[in-house]
Amino acid sequence: MLEIVPVPAFSDNYLWLVHDSGSGETAVVDPGDPAPVLAEAARLGWHIRQVWNTHWHPDHTGGNLAIKEATGATVSGPASETIPGLDVALGEGDTIRLGEHVGRVIAVPGHTLGHIALVFEDDRIAFVGDTLFAMGCGRLFEGSPQQMYHSLQRIAGLPDDTRLYCAHEYTLSNARFASFAEPGNAAVADRLSNVERMRSNGEITIPTTVAQERETNPFVRSSDWQEFARLRAEKDSFRS
Ligand SMILES: [Zn+2]
Repeated sequence: MLEIVPVPAFSDNYLWLVHDSGSGETAVVDPGDPAPVLAEAARLGWHIRQVWNTHWHPDHTGGNLAIKEATGATVSGPASETIPGLDVALGEGDTIRLGEHVGRVIAVPGHTLGHIALVFEDDRIAFVGDTLFAMGCGRLFEGSPQQMYHSLQRIAGLPDDTRLYCAHEYTLSNARFASFAEPGNAAVADRLSNVERMRSNGEITIPTTVAQERETNPFVRSSDWQEFARLRAEKDSFRS
């Protein structure tokens, strides 16, 4: 079984520690800041053997070298981006392993051009970086709306019960935008009130699931890339 523990960092990042109880191996996803990752791994008694990066942004890769130096971990990340300390270059169709658990790499360009997601199909788990957020999606820094729309559709096409681990706590702001974009969607209204309650209690709203995103994420629910592009532009200037 994979045990997944969030390590909050900066103002709203989650760095994910992933532990396979069978083999005793541990990986960390997108360690932007090394200190809290190493402290939490030590507290849990987990030894980090691998770093997995979804894209090059410093809040996702800034801890690579320090973690590598402290633990001897290998660094795997997107082949077409500049990743500090990269050992294993990943692209569409490649696999990563933690003990017996196998993750498949899918290319999800849009937020950055080389962005990848890591999909553990048998475990119903995916690490999606800054591509899909709960009720939202990443900004288009490098890719086109067409690319991002396709990337979101690939993630939303995973099995319903797949748990999606994204890299930021943006859910409340996204939920407010979703209720503006889809005022008649009862599932969005319900989720907004849940998220308001969770955040006022200081609770983490991640992971989300594919089923929840299909019901409440207006970007996933867009009928084509043009509608997606219009929503993304509206969200960029939306003040909740
Ligand atoms: Zn990013």
